[in-house]
Amino acid sequence: MIIVIDGPAGSGKSTTAKKLAESLGINFLDSGALYRAVTLAWLNSGKPDTDKFINNLTDLSIDAGEVDGKFTVWLNGKNVSEEIRTSRVADSVSEIASIPEVRNFVNKIMHKVVEKDNYIADGRDLGTAVFKDADLKFFMDATMEERARRRHNELLEKGTDITYDEVYQNLLKRDHTDSNRKADPLRKADDAIKIDTTGKTFDEQVSLMASIIKDRLKI
Ligand code: C5P
Repeated sequence: MIIVIDGPAGSGKSTTAKKLAESLGINFLDSGALYRAVTLAWLNSGKPDTDKFINNLTDLSIDAGEVDGKFTVWLNGKNVSEEIRTSRVADSVSEIASIPEVRNFVNKIMHKVVEKDNYIADGRDLGTAVFKDADLKFFMDATMEERARRRHNELLEKGTDITYDEVYQNLLKRDHTDSNRKADPLRKADDAIKIDTTGKTFDEQVSLMASIIKDRLKI
């Protein structure tokens, strides 16, 4: 079984998907983390020209799984779960994720991961491109201001030194690139249920989505 949640940056997809996975007793897959891992590889290899990077993509080993209840990503055997959250990676990820070959590469990893078990996954194009036949699709959204405020608080809690304006600009730029790229842009699938989380507390949005899942999938 696969449930997908798409939506723009900072709409609360990952935290909500994590919580829902926990309460339903299924696994969580953060597809953005895989794009971040590819981006980290690109940055670490000295930003080679795109053709060269694409030619060597299959040399990268990227894996994802759960360790002590935490979604974990390994790049060439190294746990990079923290490093992929830095603004260095956030600033370049949408550019790298817009390369069709990168998308094919990440999609293959995702299909391999989810075939083993039941998953709830979050991303941008899961309902429209990667898992078109998903058992249930959501599209989460919130106003730009609310998304920036939430993401800023999250980063401050982690001790990151970043201003609200820097976070706002990063989300704005990423949403623009993600929505306007040619390959599988950010878009609501026609059969996705839209959840606007503006003004909702975390618990409210989780319980709303949990009740939809229980109702639709009878679990
Ligand atoms: O979800 P997160 O914000 O970590 O995603 C990082 C970036 O990865 C997004 O801004 C987007 O460019 C890319 N992405 C994507 N398709 C997905 C998930 C993420 O293009 N399914």
